[in-house]
Amino acid sequence: MQLFINPDHHLHATDQVFLDGARFTTTEIPLRAALLVDGLRNAALGEILPAVDHGVQPLLAVHTPDFLNFLRTIYTQPGSAQPIFPTTFAPRSFKRFSSHPEALPGYFCFGTGTPILEGTWQAAYGSAQAALSACDALLSGRASAYAACRPPGHHAASDLYGGFCYLNNAAIAARYLQAQAQVLRARVAILDIDYHHGNGTQEIFYEDGSVLFCSLHADPDLDYPYFWGAADETGAGAGKGANFNFPLPLGMTDEAYLQTLDKALEHIARFTPHWLVLSAGLDIGAGDPEGRFCITSAGFERIGQQIASLHLPTVIIQEGGYRLDKLAEWAVALLAPFA
Ligand SMILES: [Zn+2]
Repeated sequence: MQLFINPDHHLHATDQVFLDGARFTTTEIPLRAALLVDGLRNAALGEILPAVDHGVQPLLAVHTPDFLNFLRTIYTQPGSAQPIFPTTFAPRSFKRFSSHPEALPGYFCFGTGTPILEGTWQAAYGSAQAALSACDALLSGRASAYAACRPPGHHAASDLYGGFCYLNNAAIAARYLQAQAQVLRARVAILDIDYHHGNGTQEIFYEDGSVLFCSLHADPDLDYPYFWGAADETGAGAGKGANFNFPLPLGMTDEAYLQTLDKALEHIARFTPHWLVLSAGLDIGAGDPEGRFCITSAGFERIGQQIASLHLPTVIIQEGGYRLDKLAEWAVALLAPFA
């Protein structure tokens, strides 16, 4: 398989953020991608290639022009190393849009903990380009490809960022595959195995019956992102019946997880998609600082085997995963069945 990296991910330098003189700490740091890529290179799963620039057009198939413009231009103090966080949020009852630079982050952001830095746009843009490059590998006839996306994407909606995510790489990949398809109404299934519900992806395709969204995640009553991810969110309009959430209890073991995965894969098989996009979060692994499941290395390999047994052309998009000493091992275990 081909594996695509984002050479600009380190520009989203979240390990260098200082707020009022104190270090801002986060688990979503450049070292994650560095460790992943090193591990994948050592495992020799395939050719490692830099992302190819596809321009902004494929991003516009998912995100609004205003939102992309905001991400691209909001940082106006180069060299200052000052992160941008919302200082106010637009409540559900908000009365008017405001383009004031102090107001915009609160309009487009749904949570704290997701700083905009000088290089955030460039890194997020590069992350999406890695996803698009992996799609090209599929379109040229390969069975699978992987994109080491950092920053991750599945919490980002068409005009919302949060949860470490700015651009929805999996959604951008799905829309690009459909646009490049040689068939009418090409169907894409997105399987999201990140520990957290992929609320952004769900929202983007909620009324679209051509994209099936299946997500296994921690029950939103118990963990982030809280406001999305229940089993009764099944899609709307033309998308009714094309959204499947599997909220799970904390402490999921390999066996229990694999049983639920089987049910999700049945839905995907029934949908008969032309392509599968796998939102591959590794934060389901035991001891991940952002997750509370107990998946082992052997579990990751069986998850990979089960998904690969669908025999669908599959683009694998990196989402979460924050346990630095295990990231590479888990990624290799998950990807090996596709290689
Ligand atoms: Zn996650």
